[in-house]
Amino acid sequence: MIVVMRSDSKEEEIGSVLDRLKELGLSGHLSQGTERTVIGVVGSTYPELREMLEMMPGVDDVIPISRPYKLSSREFKPYDTVVKVGDVEIGGDRLVVMAGPCAVESEEQLLRTARAVKAAGANVLRGGAFKPSTSPYTFRGLGEEGLKILAEARGQTGLPFITEVMAPQDVELVARYADVLQIGTRNMQNFILLEEAGRSGKPVMLKRGMSATIQEWLLSAEYILSQGNNRLILCERGIRTFETYTRNTMDVSAIPVIKKLSHLPIVADPSHGTGKWYLVAPLALASVAAGADGIIVEVHPSPDQALKDGAQSLTFESFGALMAKLAPVAEAVGRPLPAALEVR
Ligand code: PEP
Ligand code: MN
Repeated sequence: MIVVMRSDSKEEEIGSVLDRLKELGLSGHLSQGTERTVIGVVGSTYPELREMLEMMPGVDDVIPISRPYKLSSREFKPYDTVVKVGDVEIGGDRLVVMAGPCAVESEEQLLRTARAVKAAGANVLRGGAFKPSTSPYTFRGLGEEGLKILAEARGQTGLPFITEVMAPQDVELVARYADVLQIGTRNMQNFILLEEAGRSGKPVMLKRGMSATIQEWLLSAEYILSQGNNRLILCERGIRTFETYTRNTMDVSAIPVIKKLSHLPIVADPSHGTGKWYLVAPLALASVAAGADGIIVEVHPSPDQALKDGAQSLTFESFGALMAKLAPVAEAVGRPLPAALEVR
């Protein structure tokens, strides 16, 4: 349930509600909007609790939230969450463009890619140092060495970076380097990892599990939010269907559904969503038209030599072409491309 405080409620009154919830073994999550302050109550609630809270000073209303996910819901927070990563706002007025290789392979590969994507207008760098692999015999990433290379690229270009963390015990290490922690599709329901990432206080991007319903995805988001970390971004990256032509089926409809159900920003990943480089641009355009707050795209200096996901990676040239096509679509839906970053 959510407790809506009166617009003139005092700090002490808000504090008393939070204290009461604590006494009852429930947790209260504060959301202070410009128009109203609400407290999301998480835990097992009961009808008498509603009456009890309604009587407390400063309380305007107590509304049960009917959905199983609470803190991620629009009922809890009607206005959009904007996640700030340095100067970049995810979920703000402008589109966010995250780009880079699937995996960090070498300093040269990453630095070249970082410069190229920045020149084309990307404002966040991506690159995996810890790679989830379906087969244990394929490249699994450079580990901490990869994080150091990403940090070097950030130093040289000014681009903040996003990188995946796969294990709860690696969260501290990855959070020391990264600007945004990525939770991959295979770990969407690794609940211990979600809580650890939540506790890190770093922005987190939670990818949709490849066979997860939207409700399961939002329940996973709750694990992060309930740790007091509201710097959370969702990412639609395609789901498994009976179709085999594409690697996954990019669920573009999930974007407006998330916008309806949740206040969290949503980024589209047409690279994993399709698995084919020539489908990345059309699905990126469709996702932005459908209301995505950003895109995340794989780019490699020589996709034919990539150690991972070459078939879905764009060349520098095709990434530039995508950005040119994206500009008018982004304008048309009122989410212009990132402002050009200061060139270093
Ligand atoms: C990735 O971003 O390279 C990745 C492994 O993504 P996903 O978890 O969506 O497969
Ligand atoms: Mn990949």
